[in-house]
Amino acid sequence: MNSNARILVVGSSNTDMIIQLQRLPRPGETLLGGQFSIAAGGKGANQAVAAARAGGQVTFIARVGRDMFGDQALAGLAQAGINVDHVVRDPTEPSGVALIFVARNGQNSIAVAAGANARLCPADLRRASQVFASAQVLLMQLETPLSTVQAAARLAAAHGVQVILNPAPARPLPASLLRTVSVLTPNETEAELLTGVRVNNLAGARQAARWLRARGPQSVIITLGPRGAWVATAQAEFHVPSFKVKAVDTTAAGDVFNGALAVALAEGRPWPEAVRFANAAGALSVTKLGAQPSAPTRRQVLRLLAS
Ligand code: ADP
Repeated sequence: MNSNARILVVGSSNTDMIIQLQRLPRPGETLLGGQFSIAAGGKGANQAVAAARAGGQVTFIARVGRDMFGDQALAGLAQAGINVDHVVRDPTEPSGVALIFVARNGQNSIAVAAGANARLCPADLRRASQVFASAQVLLMQLETPLSTVQAAARLAAAHGVQVILNPAPARPLPASLLRTVSVLTPNETEAELLTGVRVNNLAGARQAARWLRARGPQSVIITLGPRGAWVATAQAEFHVPSFKVKAVDTTAAGDVFNGALAVALAEGRPWPEAVRFANAAGALSVTKLGAQPSAPTRRQVLRLLAS
């Protein structure tokens, strides 16, 4: 049940190492009794996997190290059916790693070493230029160098490829980048950081989306957690509610939403339908633990949409 959507994801790949503890350790403290798990992560890889599960034909451009974590990341991506021919093995830097403590009360504390992700460069993109020529949608985030994100956006625009930028983790963005983005997809906190507008209701989302659209992106989608998403395009502004589900773990809901949105837009679905598709994928993802394992299949998304 695949679609013909051709998606290019440029972004990060990390290995998440998680310790679940009674509480977070204090500085200088050694806390025993933790439970360890390891999972493939990084916003780029998460979104690539989400897009592939949603039915897209996905190519991923990234950098990992020549280490065991890089091997495992590549194997996982290939297993998801993603083309990893343009994932570069960095000769010196280790693969990106996130060390995550999760306390019983749900609080967490996360340290990230970007490693090879920080070396993803415009030359890596140029080597994959034929992929830019054949993609319909380029999907990016902000866990790789901004200069590379900008170069990728320019390359995509030159080929008439739609650029979706998920501005996460949030940081101020150069005006020139905002002007090359077709669709900007912040969550509430990211929208707030970018605009200075408080986004805690639909009126705030409307105001923030207008502020952003005035700076370049043709369309702005602000994701609103359980409330779905706010959509602002050249034609219309509207709210698309999400689906009622039992939330178990909201990690990577935004990544799954973005991966699914890329597929729906590449398929040429109209905005309300594309965002409903992405909401359905995001809602299903919060019903399951983990980042990449929680991305639903196309069949599951279509079933929820039909219900
Ligand atoms: P992020 O993970 O980046 O903070 P959000 O929390 O806004 O992003 O979630 C992204 C999307 O996932 C939402 O727009 C919505 O479609 C879906 N989603 C997230 N949380 C829930 C929830 N509790 N119930 C239903 N859908 C959800």
